[in-house]
Amino acid sequence: MDFDIVIVGAGLVGASLAMALKDSGLKLALIEGRAPAPLPQDDSWDARIYAVNPANARFLDQSGVWGGLDQSRIAPVHEMHVWGDDAAARLDFTAYQAGVAELAFIAESRLMQDGLWRALQGQSNVEIFCPAACAALEVADDAAILALQDGRVLRSKLVVGADGRESWVRAHAGFEAKPREYRQSGVVANFTVEKPHRNCAYQWFREDGILAYLPLPDNKISIVWSAYEPVAQELLALPGDEFCRRVQEAGKNTLGELQLITPPAAFSLRLLNLEHLVKPRVALIGDAAHNVHPLSGQGVNLGFQDAHQLAQVLLQREAQRDCGDHFLLRRYERARKEDILAMQLVTDGLHKLFNNADPLLRTLRNTGLSLTNHLGGLKNRLMRHAIGELG
Ligand SMILES: Cc1cc2nc3c(=O)[nH]c(=O)nc-3n(C[C@H](O)[C@H](O)[C@H](O)COP(=O)(O)OP(=O)(O)OC[C@H]3O[C@@H](n4cnc5c(N)ncnc54)[C@H](O)[C@@H]3O)c2cc1C
Repeated sequence: MDFDIVIVGAGLVGASLAMALKDSGLKLALIEGRAPAPLPQDDSWDARIYAVNPANARFLDQSGVWGGLDQSRIAPVHEMHVWGDDAAARLDFTAYQAGVAELAFIAESRLMQDGLWRALQGQSNVEIFCPAACAALEVADDAAILALQDGRVLRSKLVVGADGRESWVRAHAGFEAKPREYRQSGVVANFTVEKPHRNCAYQWFREDGILAYLPLPDNKISIVWSAYEPVAQELLALPGDEFCRRVQEAGKNTLGELQLITPPAAFSLRLLNLEHLVKPRVALIGDAAHNVHPLSGQGVNLGFQDAHQLAQVLLQREAQRDCGDHFLLRRYERARKEDILAMQLVTDGLHKLFNNADPLLRTLRNTGLSLTNHLGGLKNRLMRHAIGELG
């Protein structure tokens, strides 16, 4: 079975790459271990919620995916308020100041996954192998040969690892990966709120972690509480009403009383920074290529930009140029390394800065936050980065 490109992993990032290449004339294979579950017909909400920046919403729109999503389940973010760990320090971002219509869109993972999956079914250049499991990868001079566990063998010019943080492709193509565990979990849950959220996102840097409120449509919000393991385990073990009270208090009662609508779930957090994103005939994208702390909600945004950039490099390559040419793939790597590293430095730096009990550092970080709030240029640059206009 001959293909130009085999993409392993049809999560949000792998599927978005396949869609970005839908009109490329390239013959694609998409390997996925498990098909996404169909969207439930009830009014339940996915616990996995992402803040997608406007640049990536446009990227998904270019392949017709974003516009096809049920917009009544997506909330725009117009303002964001961030507090330090003393009562006075705060940083405010507004779409108005940034000169954009919205800072981000809050959307369910399963809504986007379903939209991508449905869009892929109609693509004549994409052959989907699902459920399928990889068994062996061999990279030769002229092709990459991927064997599936069911005995099928796929030959291609390029294999893309979009298979998430435990990437099989990364391991079998020999990329060296040394993740650093944060020993924290991101506790996520959805609530209805008493007071209108007015499409504001909120974030509190606290002694026991970082709590974010993200607006969902109507009077609903989603939270991500990045907390050290013992605190995360304690939160998960609380009865529903007690959990609501803790989240409400930690959020300074900003939105009044909270009622749980999606039970809490937790995801362990880690940092992964690879020296290389490509090797001859192999490229990594999304969580296979990097893991960042979710405090800035940028993990899948970085992944979408990987997919966007790799698609650009492949689409703009010289006629007849081999898709797996290492020098071609290096263009993708160069274009992405700086952005990924910058985001990792910022998120890891903030994580370290706010997880330190030194009173001097506490004063400094809170002063820094308030100062940034008054430094128009710096604040504007931070906003432009977050909405995907820089990087
Ligand atoms: C608590 C928390 C909150 C977050 N919030 C945000 C946010 O607000 N905004 C944001 O941008 N990011 C956020 N992130 C990060 C985001 O979750 C990830 O960056 C994103 O899910 C990565 O997508 P992916 O497609 O690369 O990988 P995945 O979502 O892991 O998808 C990988 C796919 O590959 C498949 N697969 C795996 N192995 C194989 C194999 N061997 N063969 C075939 N298929 C395989 C899997 O089934 C899956 O479908 C958050 C993360 C956490 C933990």
